[in-house]
Amino acid sequence: MKKCSRATCPRMVEHDLSECSNCLDRLRRHHKKLRAEVLKAYGGKCKCCGIDIPEFLSVDHMNNDGTEHRNKVGRGHRFYNWLKRNDYPKGFQLLCNNCNQSLGNYGYCPHRPKIRREVRKRNATNRLR
Ligand SMILES: [Zn+2]
Ligand SMILES: [Zn+2]
Ligand SMILES: [Zn+2]
Repeated sequence: MKKCSRATCPRMVEHDLSECSNCLDRLRRHHKKLRAEVLKAYGGKCKCCGIDIPEFLSVDHMNNDGTEHRNKVGRGHRFYNWLKRNDYPKGFQLLCNNCNQSLGNYGYCPHRPKIRREVRKRNATNRLR
């Protein structure tokens, strides 16, 4: 599903629009649905604290290669599309923003202090400079 253009959307031509709110809404709804599908496929709640409010959740790369992977497949709905196309592969989990940030910044989440993670490389290199 793509953003509409004058070539595909008669409404844009008819009303001389540079952007078509109808199609954008449809696209937004489509992305929301895709995100909901992905969240459901990965359990629908934070693996760490169990919170199940979709707005707080995001898909986390368990093996810590998130940045590299995102550069490859893209972000947001591109990433969700990729997960769906690949049958929701292993190596990903849902985390809420709090748990995700804590793991990324400190290498652990206070909910489960025993589970450690290497702090993101980005931070490590920043410290060396
Ligand atoms: Zn349109
Ligand atoms: Zn959490
Ligand atoms: Zn947590």
